[in-house]
Amino acid sequence: MGHACSGFKKLYGITSSCFMNHPSIRVRFAPSPTGMLHIGGLRTALFNFLFARHHNGKFLVRIEDTDKERSLPVYTQAIINTLTWCSMAPDEPLVIQSERQAEHLRIAQQLVQEGKAYYCYCTPEELQKRIAQTTIEGISYARYDGFCKKFIGQSSDKPRVIRFLVPANCKQVVIEDAIKGQIVFSADTFDDFILVRSDGAPMYNFVVVLDDAFMQISHIIRGEEHLINTPKQLLLYKACGYMVPTFAHLPLILGPDGTKMSKRDAAANAYDYKERGYLPQALCNYLVRLGWSHGDQEIFSVPEMINAFSLNAISSKGALFDTQKLDWVNSMHIKALSADMLYQYMKEVMQLPLGTTVASWSLRTMYLLIDLYKQRCTTLQALYRELVALHSRPSVYEIAELNHEQKQLLESLITILSIQEFTHTNLSHTIKEFCHTQEIKLSDLGPLIRIALTGKKDAPGIYDLMASLGKDETITRLKNYYRR
Ligand code: GLU
Repeated sequence: MGHACSGFKKLYGITSSCFMNHPSIRVRFAPSPTGMLHIGGLRTALFNFLFARHHNGKFLVRIEDTDKERSLPVYTQAIINTLTWCSMAPDEPLVIQSERQAEHLRIAQQLVQEGKAYYCYCTPEELQKRIAQTTIEGISYARYDGFCKKFIGQSSDKPRVIRFLVPANCKQVVIEDAIKGQIVFSADTFDDFILVRSDGAPMYNFVVVLDDAFMQISHIIRGEEHLINTPKQLLLYKACGYMVPTFAHLPLILGPDGTKMSKRDAAANAYDYKERGYLPQALCNYLVRLGWSHGDQEIFSVPEMINAFSLNAISSKGALFDTQKLDWVNSMHIKALSADMLYQYMKEVMQLPLGTTVASWSLRTMYLLIDLYKQRCTTLQALYRELVALHSRPSVYEIAELNHEQKQLLESLITILSIQEFTHTNLSHTIKEFCHTQEIKLSDLGPLIRIALTGKKDAPGIYDLMASLGKDETITRLKNYYRR
């Protein structure tokens, strides 16, 4: 559960605090455009977005494209498309990390001049001797021995990297994480890490701090996999004299087998869920519950999520990704949506050729049928398939053989139906009367009507179906069935 922060504590080392007084709430989502936005990334974006909205703060997006080989514009576009689909557009223009490189390098030089960073000239061969592996609590750390510290104040033309100089008196770094509580990192778990590579490219741990400070980020809400980077970043905040933001590391999303969810576990690409017929509000509702809770409530509208969201209610334990639950949440949102909204989603958002496929239906019929079928579908795709299937008159029937009496029964029914006004109430009344006169059970006639109209045994209620399809279509389908 959320850790109750106890103010700024000085624990023999460097400490972050969740009670730094930030002028306003500003959060950021900082994806690297090296792949599609996956489910975990979308949840991180969502938690930042909800936190910002809850506090009337700002939600910002920074594209971390410093890895030149792997970053591609197509991925940046895909990330933006996914955020736009989920109505999470940033409140300020996108920050593109690579565009700030000159500033990053300027600050690196400044740190060197201030004696807070130094040039390291070690070749890869030399580093093999000067990097030792330490294992602490089962985690292995590679640590450089600081050989080039002796060149501080000197400069040479040899290839070099810039390393951060971990202050000699730093024994540990203490993180007061808003979700995980207090975490102490021994100084043995990090070394004089690289700020700028020999090819002049600044490294993640360095630029992330500069950019978060530049963007005046008050809270860093991100995945737990970045916890390990946080002590280094905290040291840089202190060295640069920046205000330290509050850190909040989100629990992992676990795959069905309880281990860290891999990109293969239905999570490769969050945008795929759009094509697969999930509503963005349903996907976000599902994601918000991955690690966060609000009593027993499962279904949230977006305003409800914003209203209820708090970092305190985020669990520090991993959350299990459950496709069945996602389907259920989606079905609940589909049911709650009006027929015209669902129609728009299917037509425009999913770009399904609904308009042309079922063009002969009036909008009224379409909406009636959507309202009827939305009760039974877990995705927009499924709803779409049902409507398309219903639109074509059945050619295959799940009960194919009719005996003479059944045929006669349907024929007599048609005579009655032709004089009926096709409303649910009228149809219900007439068909019950018809059964009574014919001395048959409704449970014998109902399935025949359902099959005649849809070809299937499993379909919505007959009165609704008949009322939605209308008199002419209903009669045609009944005749087609018994006259084969
Ligand atoms: N760019 C990093 C990533 O995509 C996120 C860094 C951060 O949130 O600090 O994982």
